[in-house]
Amino acid sequence: MAEQCPVCGKGTLRPKRVREEMFGIELGTYAAEVCNECGEVFFTSESVSAIEDRAKELGLWGLASKVKVARSGNSLVVRIPSPLARYLKLRNGQEVLVAPEQKHKLVLELG
Ligand SMILES: [Zn+2]
Repeated sequence: MAEQCPVCGKGTLRPKRVREEMFGIELGTYAAEVCNECGEVFFTSESVSAIEDRAKELGLWGLASKVKVARSGNSLVVRIPSPLARYLKLRNGQEVLVAPEQKHKLVLELG
């Protein structure tokens, strides 16, 4: 018997291969169970570790992190951790465009 979806409680989970990406970079296609009602994807535990391994291989693992906003004169400063700066090839003194993408999302565009 098919398992009921723990998210919507209405649909059932069906095995499916699902394409995964991280930060816009393709990681591959992995075994998962997908709800036929809400579309929620549940990767198998084997898939979760394979996705993690692939993300590490590509240097994507751990690039997202929480940082604190600090004051600098009249402005606020957000520190960019060095692994992320290396990944983006961001250099000291480089000019970037900073703009809100949504009310709760900030985008830094590298020239
Ligand atoms: Zn569901």
